[in-house]
Amino acid sequence: MDNIRNVVIIGSGCAGHTAALYTARANLKPLVLEGHEPGGQLSLTTLVENFPGFPEGIQGPELIENMRKQASRFGAEYKHGHVTSVDLSANPFKVHVGHEVIHTRTLIVASGASARWLGLPHEQQLIGHGVSSCATCDGFFFSGKEITVIGGGDSAMEEAIFLSRFATKVTVIHRREHFRASKIMLDRAQKNEKIAFLLDTVVEDVNDIHKKEVTSLTLRNLKTGKVWDFPASAMFLGIGHIPNTKIFDGQLEMDQDGYLKTKDYVFTRVHGVYACGDVQDRRYRQAITAAGSGCMAALEVEKFLEE
Ligand code: NAP
Repeated sequence: MDNIRNVVIIGSGCAGHTAALYTARANLKPLVLEGHEPGGQLSLTTLVENFPGFPEGIQGPELIENMRKQASRFGAEYKHGHVTSVDLSANPFKVHVGHEVIHTRTLIVASGASARWLGLPHEQQLIGHGVSSCATCDGFFFSGKEITVIGGGDSAMEEAIFLSRFATKVTVIHRREHFRASKIMLDRAQKNEKIAFLLDTVVEDVNDIHKKEVTSLTLRNLKTGKVWDFPASAMFLGIGHIPNTKIFDGQLEMDQDGYLKTKDYVFTRVHGVYACGDVQDRRYRQAITAAGSGCMAALEVEKFLEE
């Protein structure tokens, strides 16, 4: 068989770029398949202030572009398009991108997790202008403002508690009266004087695209049917993430929510297939932890190929 790759990396977020950098520097000529959200979640955020090495912070898209340039400089190859299926039943593994089949001795899965959005008419246009799925990334910009968090799980409570450090008031908007959040997280949020709750309420839209900033949310109470405009400077989504793992169904082990199960950080149950970043991490989900696990996966690939 001609043209068997040493390593293919699925995904081009922090984990994928870091894996590419390390495997490129090991002279393995990695091929990175960029996926349907090139750059991953960092490309959707604004100023990143918690990635070490940038005392003034750095814009998310710039950080991710720098990572890509750095890996390219050492010979990493990037390819547009997303993987439609994989066959991990025998080595070399087969990776299908549309009609093309790529053969590879090792595979690094860094396909990430995508934030779940509400699907509101103007939600996508206001991402980065008051709509965010990452409190840790964007909370600081709303110091002294009144903001909202959507959801009733642990993520929503965690975001609300974190955001209360900056905002004057955080309103958690949840579609039911019962919460999915753990008792301890809910208690903490309920005891926080800056956090208020609006229950049995859904968001119908986020305004105002003409001003290019969030000024209010259109809300509807599910019990009374009342629709009203709720002033707020931001809408943070805490309604969960969806790991991008559909193509591995039946081939790699997953937990009940579809996150890839790994052993010793990055090992999947298939010899030669490693997973890193948010696709296997539902706990930390930080750019720096994703980069770290990308490095680990790359070092394991080197070892595997040497052996
Ligand atoms: P989750 O537990 O699935 O909760 C998602 C919440 O968003 C639910 O309250 C759900 O409402 C709501 N939601 C989902 N889709 C919605 C929609 N389209 N419109 C309105 N509301 C919607 O997700 P999560 O909070 O991200 O937590 C995921 C896992 O990570 C959990 O196991 C959690 O314990 C864990 N986690 C732990 C911590 C921590 O311990 N520090 C922090 C974060 C996450 P319904 O309740 O009505 O379905």
